[in-house]
Amino acid sequence: MSHVFHRSLTQDYPTAIKGEGPYLIDDQGRRYLDACGGAAVSCLGHSDTAVTEAIREQVGKVAYAHTAFFTTEPMEALADFLVERAPAGLESVYFVSGGSEAMEAALKLARQYFIEIGQPRRRHLIARRQSYHGNTLGALATGGNAWRRQQFEPLLIDVSHVSPCYAYRGLQEGETPEAYAVRLADELEAEILHLGAENVMAFVAEPVVGATMGAVPAVPGYFKRVREVCDRHGILLILDEVMCGMGRTGTLFAAEQEGITADLITIAKGLGAGYQPIGATLVSRRIRDAIASGSGFFQHGHTYIGHATACAAALAVQTTIQQRDLLPRVCELGEGLQRRLTERFGEHPHIGDIRGRGLFQGLELVADRATKTAFDPERKVNARVKQAAMQAGLMCYPMGGTIDGRLGDHILLAPPFILEESHLDEIVDKLDIALRSALGSR
Ligand code: PLP
Repeated sequence: MSHVFHRSLTQDYPTAIKGEGPYLIDDQGRRYLDACGGAAVSCLGHSDTAVTEAIREQVGKVAYAHTAFFTTEPMEALADFLVERAPAGLESVYFVSGGSEAMEAALKLARQYFIEIGQPRRRHLIARRQSYHGNTLGALATGGNAWRRQQFEPLLIDVSHVSPCYAYRGLQEGETPEAYAVRLADELEAEILHLGAENVMAFVAEPVVGATMGAVPAVPGYFKRVREVCDRHGILLILDEVMCGMGRTGTLFAAEQEGITADLITIAKGLGAGYQPIGATLVSRRIRDAIASGSGFFQHGHTYIGHATACAAALAVQTTIQQRDLLPRVCELGEGLQRRLTERFGEHPHIGDIRGRGLFQGLELVADRATKTAFDPERKVNARVKQAAMQAGLMCYPMGGTIDGRLGDHILLAPPFILEESHLDEIVDKLDIALRSALGSR
């Protein structure tokens, strides 16, 4: 029996012993094409030599220096790299060890900002239904994914959840995407007015929703309107780019494609590409200045914040992506993947929607295409697809969101940026095998 407390205590896992580009290999010699980067993490694939060398070099110099005593070269250089490329106004970076920690830092920074500027009543958050922002208690309270929250209710902080921007299910008959964006922004504004704007601190959203919906971008104009609503009421906008950021959608920050900036942006997964655990919260000038000219201290230390080796690894990942000019490639490969998925599964009786941006693509699985009825959760469709895909030698990320209070199913594809065209065919072929095995032949 394994002495590891695995998340699932009823499942056996193959042992990964080697990585080769976009493949992971287990101790039986089976090869798995990593079409989801684990959880949208491994954007450079596995065993990249430049990153391996950067880690080796940093460990040989300073593996770790506690941030209560020192700053380090890789931490400073990584902050410079990110700020130079970040949406306007985001001028400093708080480094942590992952996405949930980045969200916790963002929530506490938002709260501290309002305390420092003398508006302590602003403590209420607004997020969206069907969202996921991490598993620590603050981040879990923020997310609107009922399935992940239910065992831990009541959660520690008060959060209202408004509708997600989800064209496949949310767009009403005859409604244009523009009108849909206006309706959703109005809903957000109504919630703010209902709570009293003087009590609300921030609105939190993922520019392209990953884990809970399967790569759902917002309709054009949605985020611009959301930004306007936040500004009108003095509310901070927190964009969670933990999954969709760092080039995954074809631009370094997903917000760039929405033409907006945020007060806080969280990043993680693709930042270190899995070579080291790292996340970060990008902080706007006005929040930093308010704290700097107020208490001067952010009470949020963790032992491993700003870890020198993690920062060196992330810097090597990001400079490699830049030197190899991989972001235009993400757009090209993403278009190729979406085209192949549509050709193969566009008429599939159990695939209701194919959507995404860049190398962040999702397929929504439905029992009935015409009515968009989700599968009965008892059928555990997403777990079966995952298992069948692993048997076919493919890693994909099938998950359940919640649709009208019930669990729905989708598959998320988030492969490394280093793929060849032939890997796109391999993904679609193996996914086809997995779907036939999990759902029966068409
Ligand atoms: N935010 C989003 C959008 C995520 O997708 C995730 C993880 O999937 C998190 C936050 C939490 O990140 P982590 O698992 O690194 O704590």
